[in-house]
Amino acid sequence: MWRGLLSRAALLEVRAQHLGAFSSLVDSGSVVVRKVLDGLHLSAASGGEAVSDAKAIALAEHCWQRELGRALATPRLTNHETNLQRLSASSPNGASADPFAALYQGVVDRVVTLYGGLWPDDLRLDLVPLEDHPRSPADAYALSGQTTSTPKGVVVELQVHPDGLGPATFLVIPVVFAHECVCHVVPCAAGQLVNDESAFAEGLMDWASLHHVRRWLPQLWPAMAGAARSHAKLFSAVAVPKGHRSYSPRIVGWQAAEELVSQLTPPGAWRSGCPRALSPPSPCA
Ligand SMILES: [Zn+2]
Repeated sequence: MWRGLLSRAALLEVRAQHLGAFSSLVDSGSVVVRKVLDGLHLSAASGGEAVSDAKAIALAEHCWQRELGRALATPRLTNHETNLQRLSASSPNGASADPFAALYQGVVDRVVTLYGGLWPDDLRLDLVPLEDHPRSPADAYALSGQTTSTPKGVVVELQVHPDGLGPATFLVIPVVFAHECVCHVVPCAAGQLVNDESAFAEGLMDWASLHHVRRWLPQLWPAMAGAARSHAKLFSAVAVPKGHRSYSPRIVGWQAAEELVSQLTPPGAWRSGCPRALSPPSPCA
């Protein structure tokens, strides 16, 4: 299971600059796109018996190159499908040994600067494969997150449905890490239970995490920043805590955050749009 997830993430990571275009085609109904995705599934599973993670990734890359060649070897590609040819030009330079850990560490390094001495030393990441998509009806993002306090310290869980780890899901992994780290890690370290109905944690602080991660993306992962910023807003709007029909802590908290920002921002600066850093992600629009 681990090798399959790792290989999928690695195949997507080295094509970070093309994931936006790829993700926009996933639900197009195109037979060619279906073959490309099937090739991704097949290739990710190809390194299960490899002697090392690095070998598994190399095998998966070799396999997907072959599958991409087959899927795209048709003379009648549409203009949109032609964009998929760019997936064959991966950039292994800068590839991570573990893309999940790399994305996690990038976010953690930034969040630490927000919390300073409150940040726990014993935080760790746990990758949890899911049997199914975490939400119903399913959306484009087959992942979720959770932060828990254990006797050995605070654990950030990245929960992923392996078959759903495609371009859209990969692009929002930093958003999940930002939510867990900005909203939950420090309260968890202080012994507080995560409360899904809290408009503060799941709304106002979620707004803050979204604001920050969209600001960090161009610095941390410039190749995928544009697409990831777009997907961040979409994901945060659909990945709301379950069980709320008449009351949405996310909407209430987002509205409070935007009201707070509008009150704290000088009217002239707000109207001019100068403080982009303070510009809300507008999830309520
Ligand atoms: Zn949360």
